[in-house]
Amino acid sequence: MPRSTHEAGAGPRAQRPADAAAVASRLAALHPGARTELDHRDAVELLVATVLSAQTTDVRVNQVTPELFSRWPDPAALAGAEETDVAEVVRPLGMGPTRARRIIALARGLLADHGGRVPDDQAALEALPGVGRKTAHVVRGAWFGHSLLAVDTHVGRVTRRLGWTTRTDPRTVEEDVVAHVEADGTGADAEELTVLGLRLILHGRRVCTARAPRCEECVLADICPRVGVA
Ligand code: SF4
Repeated sequence: MPRSTHEAGAGPRAQRPADAAAVASRLAALHPGARTELDHRDAVELLVATVLSAQTTDVRVNQVTPELFSRWPDPAALAGAEETDVAEVVRPLGMGPTRARRIIALARGLLADHGGRVPDDQAALEALPGVGRKTAHVVRGAWFGHSLLAVDTHVGRVTRRLGWTTRTDPRTVEEDVVAHVEADGTGADAEELTVLGLRLILHGRRVCTARAPRCEECVLADICPRVGVA
């Protein structure tokens, strides 16, 4: 089956990457209060919810975390939980035992290495079980207020379509996008990359979708090199 020309090919306007400042300001107007859609009350809950959100949706995660956080309200409680009990609570997300093992190991790591607190440190976060670069960026951006791009599938797809990168590996997508937006004068302020990333995710979920992007109603249509290429 041929790849979608949206991902692979040049469109009628495939000359220039979309202007980063214009993209940022238009998405800001559309999503002024963009924030993570994972419900949380503190950094530990955000970290656990983000780890749980792998290969599922934020909406589903929000359906299981009230019971999870009520039964095991802190890393000490979660670290001592029975895996089968936790697996039962997170079962609606799929891979219940794996997810349970993952967040119990995370809680134990937080307890052993950081006194049950979430460190505001990239390397320390990435050293915790189940925490990668994206998860650490989500937590440090959304909770601690840093300007960090978290590259997920939506950010990767939308930024490729906007012409900001041609690559697919999240780390290299991040490098390309950050270089592009900073060269354009965007992304230098506190939290700016974090919020831009959240807005790109919303755009990717609602308009610039994987299979059938709604270019006809997209606020970026006049500056997007892939507009109308289906
Ligand atoms: S939906 Fe918008 S950003 Fe996505 S390809 Fe179409 S015009 Fe470009």
